[in-house]
Amino acid sequence: MAEFTHFYETFQPEHYNVYIDVNRETKLISGQTTIKGDAKKATISIHQKDLDVASVLADDKDVPFTLEKATDEIRIDLGKTGDTTLTITYTAPLTDSMMGIYPSYYEVDGVKKQIIGTQFETNFARQAFPCVDEPEAKATFDLAIKYDEKAGETTLSNMPEIKVENGVHYFDTTVRMSTYLIAFAFGDLQSKMTETKSGVKIGVFATKAHQAKELDFALDIAKRSIEFYEDFYQTPYPLPHSWQLALPDFSAGAMENWGLVTYREAYLVLDPDNTSLEMKQLVATVIAHELAHQWFGDLVTMKWWDDLWLNESFANMMEYVAIDALQPDWHIWEMFQTSEAAAALQRDATDGVQSVHVNVENPAEIDALFDGAIVYAKGARLLVMVRALLGDDALREGLKNYFAAHHYGNATGADLWSALGAASHLDVGAIMNSWLEQPGYPVVSASVVNGQLTLKQQQFFVGEGEEVGRQWQIPLNGNYDAVPALMTDKEIQLGDYAELRAASGKPFRLNVGNNSHFIVKYDQTLLDDILAHVADLDPIDQLQLLQDLRLLAEGRQISFSAIVPLLEKFADSESNVVTTLLYRVTNDLKKFVTPDSAAEMNLQAFTDRLSVSQIARLGLKPTAGESNDDQLTRPVVLGASLYAKNPETIAAVHELFVANHDNLVNLSADIRVYVLLNEVKNYGTPELIDELLNEYRQSSDASYKQSICAAVTATPDPKLIAKIIGEFENAETVKPQDLRAWFRGVLNNNHGQQAAWDWIRNDWQWLEDTVGGDMEFTTFITVIAGIFRTPERLAEFKAFFEPKLNTPGLTREIKMDTKVIETRVNLIEAEKTAVNGAIALAVEKGIIDFK
Ligand SMILES: [Zn+2]
Repeated sequence: MAEFTHFYETFQPEHYNVYIDVNRETKLISGQTTIKGDAKKATISIHQKDLDVASVLADDKDVPFTLEKATDEIRIDLGKTGDTTLTITYTAPLTDSMMGIYPSYYEVDGVKKQIIGTQFETNFARQAFPCVDEPEAKATFDLAIKYDEKAGETTLSNMPEIKVENGVHYFDTTVRMSTYLIAFAFGDLQSKMTETKSGVKIGVFATKAHQAKELDFALDIAKRSIEFYEDFYQTPYPLPHSWQLALPDFSAGAMENWGLVTYREAYLVLDPDNTSLEMKQLVATVIAHELAHQWFGDLVTMKWWDDLWLNESFANMMEYVAIDALQPDWHIWEMFQTSEAAAALQRDATDGVQSVHVNVENPAEIDALFDGAIVYAKGARLLVMVRALLGDDALREGLKNYFAAHHYGNATGADLWSALGAASHLDVGAIMNSWLEQPGYPVVSASVVNGQLTLKQQQFFVGEGEEVGRQWQIPLNGNYDAVPALMTDKEIQLGDYAELRAASGKPFRLNVGNNSHFIVKYDQTLLDDILAHVADLDPIDQLQLLQDLRLLAEGRQISFSAIVPLLEKFADSESNVVTTLLYRVTNDLKKFVTPDSAAEMNLQAFTDRLSVSQIARLGLKPTAGESNDDQLTRPVVLGASLYAKNPETIAAVHELFVANHDNLVNLSADIRVYVLLNEVKNYGTPELIDELLNEYRQSSDASYKQSICAAVTATPDPKLIAKIIGEFENAETVKPQDLRAWFRGVLNNNHGQQAAWDWIRNDWQWLEDTVGGDMEFTTFITVIAGIFRTPERLAEFKAFFEPKLNTPGLTREIKMDTKVIETRVNLIEAEKTAVNGAIALAVEKGIIDFK
């Protein structure tokens, strides 16, 4: 017997009439929901959570019911099956959980205000109204919303409003859709509107705390994204409008509610005159991601949460496909390589990680499925691999057929493979199976054995891993003709290396373009050959070389001390992705040095040597007409130069602060965070921290607020650290949605680590009560595991989290994170001396070279 039954097996809804009355003053929701549907059993189950149900009528007659808290259930005795109309009357509290129906708080000109919005994914629609809250239970909905309305307020939902009667806002009947995609919102909003070529109304909505121009960027990207998808999918946008709404309190990044997409403010509104290119790219990809879902996820929906990856991996690939088409000059796939690919390779190397596809029944485990590095990043990487195999023509043809076959319905991964297979005549399912159902990925060792060029695949682990003989079908993308398209065996031989090398005239390489999900370990002969010609590689291939080497070092297959002498080869690259990877590796070296030691001074001197000519080339401020690469590289190099304690950089950045002290928000957004950081670390006073905290409370510019957060959490002053931690539980300063970034900042600060660690252990219960219902909750544990590096902290981590191992949704994260810290502690122990020796040698050699 299945422990968790799907309620859809007992009752299949066709149509809902949902009436909801929200009172912001009394924090009370009262509602009545009528559901027309087909009872499959005489006793049926309808979802509810924390609803106070007054009555249940079936076909206008009172029927007996019970509320089952543990299963979020109203169990109703119908005494019959077949067509039934249920009418359920209830009240519920309006809570600050950022789930279900919830208020967002903000201030305009000193006046406190709120917007009410909704967040129903994964299973919070049941907190707003009784329903069969499963993705398969698609139905049509008539929404009617009433609230303590004031003049000038705006009311929004998935569909257009058709009338207002006695203060009740009635919305047009929806198309057939899943409950988790229903949304509504109201409050004192401003908006900007436009229309697509095909006549879809596009709108961007935000609070009046923002300047009107902050809505422009999103409006343009949203409009062009919808137009792009209509063309790419060859399927019209299915609704009359596409609203984008920024909510001041928002747990995730954004949510693809059909026709009313909700966003964290940082991911929708931005100052077009002063926002970094990186932030603009990020916002554009988030919008394109949510709008990709309007078809893939909303029009065709996964049948059950085990295929969540299907939604997320796909949207995560499409956000790059779309933005690459809309802004070709951005080279947005480079961002994919430095963010998604890197995150997937790191997380997927830890034994115990989930596979992309996971069987899940327990609702408490569903939220734990949202492992961003796997379900979003790795999944997207796998689909990029599929796209490369298929080509865009077959991909588009397959998608068009997939949407036509399953629109307003549900589908599984197998349905997608069969549509793509039919369009491409490839057995896509067979190739993908090895990648989706197995956790982890392979390292392909390329070596010359007895003169033969030999390839061997084996699962790659960072930290201890159990070798269970997993094998993958690997698209090799080799640069020699002798390399097969797919490697299906454990080991293959390509032929006589000397002959192959002579025939091709270039060093041997695999995974050219870095689109397949594996890393390569070249033997010394092959690696030396590549390094001798490294300048011939394009930026992505240079990035890949550094990325694979750092992973091999993390996995103890090579030593970090062997990488140190290679880094200078990349120091003067004018490519943003190469520079980003260079400093990521340099950053990896920080774990080997004790704070304030001679080893740290050596690493600083080494970093200074790497960055000094780049700083001279780029300067501190953007110049008109400079390349995107230069814009993106400058902050990376500036960060390195400040870490290196370069006295000229510190002084010049301080001057920038002094010159802009009266108007810090107007400092160029690219470098603002470093100007503030430098000031706090090197010139900080209690007054400065007060001033910045004040700015933080009053500003509505999300990227400025992020800069302030990064700066103030870096203060070395213990009294100020105590003061900052004192604000963690004060939502007037630090909103719960932003708390993780504040916590991470202080924990990552040597002078603040103990205090932040004490705080989270002491106030864990508060944290759980405040953000525990959130699907991002476990990432607080991930943040800790990303920072701790000593045996003492490892022991403390275990002592605190091991007793929580049985908490549903936390088990996997605690196990993985314990392993992550353990692995780091062991790596430092084993390599510290060699790495610090290599850094010292590089510094010494540099001084000699200089002479
Ligand atoms: Zn998504």
